[in-house]
Amino acid sequence: MEKNALDTDIQFLPGVGPKRALLFRKELGIGTIGDLIKLYPFRYIDRSNIISIKDAAPDMAYIQIRAKVEEINLLGGRESISPDNVKFHKVKRMSVKVSDGTGYMELVFFKGIKWMFSKLKTGEEYIFFGKPSLFNGHLNMVHPEVDNARSSDTGGNFMNNAMTGVYPGTENLRNGGITGKVMNRLMENALALALPDMEETLPQHLLMEKGLVPIHFAVRNIHFPKDLASLEKARYRLKFEELFYLQLSLLKQKYVRSRNINGIRMPKVGDAFNICYDSLPFSLTGAQKRVITEIRNDMKSGHQMNRLLQGDVGSGKTMVAVLSALIAVGNGYQACIMAPTEVLAQQHFKNISRYLEKTGVRPALLTGSSRTAERREIHRGLEDGSIGILVGTHALFEDNVVFRNLGLAIIDEQHRFGVEQRARLWRKSSCGLAPHILVMTATPIPRTLAMTLYGDLDVSVIDELPPGRKPIQTIAANESKRTALFNFLKEQIKLGRQVFIVYPLIFESEKMDYKNLETGYEQIVKAFPFPPYKTAIVHGQQSNDEKKFNMDAFAAGRADILVATSVIEVGVDVPNASVMVIESAERFGLSQLHQLRGRVGRGSEKSYCILMTGNKLSKDSRHRIQLMCATENGFELAEEDMKMRGPGDLEGTQQSGLPVELNIASLAKDGLILNDARQCAQAVLDEDPGLGLPKNRLMAEEISKDRYKVRDYSQIS
Ligand code: ADP
Ligand code: MG
Repeated sequence: MEKNALDTDIQFLPGVGPKRALLFRKELGIGTIGDLIKLYPFRYIDRSNIISIKDAAPDMAYIQIRAKVEEINLLGGRESISPDNVKFHKVKRMSVKVSDGTGYMELVFFKGIKWMFSKLKTGEEYIFFGKPSLFNGHLNMVHPEVDNARSSDTGGNFMNNAMTGVYPGTENLRNGGITGKVMNRLMENALALALPDMEETLPQHLLMEKGLVPIHFAVRNIHFPKDLASLEKARYRLKFEELFYLQLSLLKQKYVRSRNINGIRMPKVGDAFNICYDSLPFSLTGAQKRVITEIRNDMKSGHQMNRLLQGDVGSGKTMVAVLSALIAVGNGYQACIMAPTEVLAQQHFKNISRYLEKTGVRPALLTGSSRTAERREIHRGLEDGSIGILVGTHALFEDNVVFRNLGLAIIDEQHRFGVEQRARLWRKSSCGLAPHILVMTATPIPRTLAMTLYGDLDVSVIDELPPGRKPIQTIAANESKRTALFNFLKEQIKLGRQVFIVYPLIFESEKMDYKNLETGYEQIVKAFPFPPYKTAIVHGQQSNDEKKFNMDAFAAGRADILVATSVIEVGVDVPNASVMVIESAERFGLSQLHQLRGRVGRGSEKSYCILMTGNKLSKDSRHRIQLMCATENGFELAEEDMKMRGPGDLEGTQQSGLPVELNIASLAKDGLILNDARQCAQAVLDEDPGLGLPKNRLMAEEISKDRYKVRDYSQIS
């Protein structure tokens, strides 16, 4: 045995042995007793909280029922399969009818059928835990978790608690005898053996200041809660600790970067900035001013700026980009602005040229389709410094594009740019210092997530739209309003407007009766016959040329209606389109609905977003639709979206992924703790940036551990 029980190989834990140890390693990556202790229950069976089937409703979150198995049916496609001598590969679905004396419920399994079939016995009683839903008018639960009612009755013997932890398990573990009950017993053994060896991981002064429970209390109660209050205290402490060390490690990295990487010092604002600013036909919004100040402070600091600028569509990011670029120019440097598509680059160039008119600063546009002569001219202008601001696409990355002295690179819509491309940008600076970097995005990312995803970047937010923008009227409707909807669309088209109609699916799904694109398209063409109506269609199955052809037709006004899946390009700008119809809107997440809605409301006409939904909506769907009708604020919606779906599913974040795996805290739900933890970490670093003080030694040790090593973003942007 090791000196410290935590480091002892799991096979030496009483009740494990070499065979189970192998399983633990393979199935859960658990090698030591310490690893096992870090496996926390993902829920608790609370025997005081079992509800009657008659009280269950489809909009309840998770419920627990105690019910008897009445009937088990195995189905292969549509036909029944005899339960004797089953060929399990033929079974598609297992339906279990259960009752508790107050009503019946169907439980449905599509996976793990063999194991579940062997576990459930007709006539026996079990505890089922799951999410109720409505199917064909009846209540059911898909893949509920199952506990043996009888053994749970006596489950209270685990330290006499009302609550028993349920641990993540796999079929292989269960086959190897590591059931929920066994897991609880092993955990009991592990704590008895190793808890005395566990040292406090947070400094005493922090525990006191934040009112956190000590590590021993926390670990004991996360596994075997004495009561609900103790469980809450344990959870809070462990979440805080996790988020605190995550933030401490991110902020420390950021500190090291800003100390080690010198930036180009740009001390003045410059004439070009002032001329442009004074000639603006509008005054900047408060949010724009604040963000420009933040950027200006970065650029004059002598450190390299690495800033993410978030702002809803139409919030005026381009303006901020131009003024920032002019600061670089005013200090004798060049700037470039990169867009993800040629169309967007052209759009930027047009707008930016207008802003630059009086400043004497020369802009240029470089894209994949710039002609050779033009290119040569641009290369010359970049090298001799006569071009102040270069706007373009990926073409900017070509090796023969050489700046005289690039001081600032602005990237619009970060998600389209890969890591490698950003690294190339870094190398483009010829004055030896890395250019300042400003990344702009219109995909709102909740603050808590941004803090972690871009933990070592600074984040600026434009959370205010320029005044005078016409709100988009958002309306929810169902099938009964179809005729009224089509009449409304016809009126709008008669007024010269254009209409988007978006569908969630491309192919008809067997089980769900969602509108799909193809039948939808047929319906539209029938209701809006040619002539006079012209309808174009764009979807993911088309070739790029086909897509472009149809998009262009719509953008140029040659089609009145664009039927599309959600592939509609980011940033598609058709100011004349004033209506966005979203079919089966309940199928979309909030962020996606918001992005889609952002395609309208760009012209001078009043715009509409119509959310068509089915009649039966889940509580979540109804909530989403109501929120969409209630607010146009992308950040509010993104926060809500994250709460409902969890951060992993958020659009725009899949590519980035989370920089670390969290064991207990949730970025979606623990925003408040995260804020607190971050402030706390900041305060520690403000006082002791190197974590060299004796009272912070514990912290320095903790963040040097692997689990808090976070991906380094500083080199990629
Ligand atoms: P974003 O890039 O954030 O989607 P833009 O920069 O394209 O937004 O701005 C949208 C529109 O609002 C543009 O026509 C721009 O000229 C205008 N605009 C920007 N800032 C202001 C402001 N402070 N007041 C009025 N209009 C503004
Ligand atoms: Mg923009």
